[in-house]
Amino acid sequence: MCYNLRVMTEETQTILVHYHEIALKGKNRPVFLEQLAQNLKAAVSDLGKARVRRMTGRLQFQLDGTVSWETLRKRLGMVFGVANFLPAYRVEPSIEAMQEAIGRSVAGRTFESFRVTAKRADKTFPLTSPEINRQVGGYVKAQTGVRVDLENPELTIYLEVLPGEAFFAFERYPGPGGLPVGVSGRVVALLSGGIDSPVASYRMMKRGCRVLFVHFHGQPYLSRASAEKAEELANLLTRYQYRSRLYLVPFGEVQREVVLGVPAPYRVVLYRRLMIRIAEKIAAQERAKALVTGDSLGQVASQTLENLAVVGQSASGGLALFRPLIGMDKDEITAQAQAIGTYEISIQPDQDCCQLFIPKRPATRTTVEVIERVEERLGVERLVKMALEKIEVKEFRFPGGIEDRG
Ligand code: ATP
Ligand code: MG
Repeated sequence: MCYNLRVMTEETQTILVHYHEIALKGKNRPVFLEQLAQNLKAAVSDLGKARVRRMTGRLQFQLDGTVSWETLRKRLGMVFGVANFLPAYRVEPSIEAMQEAIGRSVAGRTFESFRVTAKRADKTFPLTSPEINRQVGGYVKAQTGVRVDLENPELTIYLEVLPGEAFFAFERYPGPGGLPVGVSGRVVALLSGGIDSPVASYRMMKRGCRVLFVHFHGQPYLSRASAEKAEELANLLTRYQYRSRLYLVPFGEVQREVVLGVPAPYRVVLYRRLMIRIAEKIAAQERAKALVTGDSLGQVASQTLENLAVVGQSASGGLALFRPLIGMDKDEITAQAQAIGTYEISIQPDQDCCQLFIPKRPATRTTVEVIERVEERLGVERLVKMALEKIEVKEFRFPGGIEDRG
């Protein structure tokens, strides 16, 4: 199917976008809808100029331009906040007009069974939804001779009656659900080159957060590989939030100092605490309200309850620290990484900075007292400052690409 708005039929072809009602109580409603409209436009900004109109309980989306339906379907199917969407035809909200238009529209189709699924959003419309189903269904049945099957129809005729207009459609596509990116505020995600943290970032986006990324790389002691992976991951994840920023933090020097001053078993927890502290500074600058990591309980030595607590306590600036994957196992996380497209990037070999100078047996149970003593000797503030001095920032756009920002 080609979605071509220049060849309009008598009933204008358009797209109906449905959203979940959960976040729509009270004052949030206009903010949610405005953000969803903006995001829908951003998602197709390279395809043409989109217009989004608010209607009772749904949005009408139109694109000036000719694109394949396949392309448009994929784009709309990635916009958080969209429950489902339907390529639809607009028609007069009278039973005769709907019967006639739908009758004409199904004439060219072959199908062995059908049903009508009407929704009456205009409660002043004289017929109820079941009555509309019967009257339109009866008309189509008389015209085509095809039987009605409510359970398992080959063709479903969706019909929505709104104040002053009605829409009908034959296909309904699922959206990703969630909340529109932007409505929940900003967070900073610690993005490694691994499988987990991109998934954690994705889940926060899906809850309406704009995610800023921070990656720590082992330069000058390791190659650029992990930073390049982080860039690729940030670039890919940008398709869900349209613009992203990635902070690349050189961590090699910091780690070298840790190695010189800290007994091996404590290093990993110490690295994590330093990462949190550095990320916090970036969050403050970005007015972000929370940090996000890809930790999953028990997965590696730094993710025991004890160590997670010790790492968590390094966050000081009143920020929340979220670990959206904490209760997921590796298979579940991997499946999600595959579904969102980050998996293939994550499994490319790199040199993660945490493998640098890593001990064979990291401590699984550190305590804050011990770690704080170690940190005092080390002078963590100085290390944080040192890392922040040589930060690089990259910007990403979707649709679009990467740009450097020094
Ligand atoms: P991942 O697959 O996300 O790397 P993991 O199971 O390998 O997770 P760790 O490597 O111990 O676990 O990291 C735990 C979390 O710490 C990561 O999910 C990520 O949020 C953060 N983290 C680890 N290394 C880095 C890094 N080099 N840069 C940024 N964040 C990191
Ligand atoms: Mg990792």
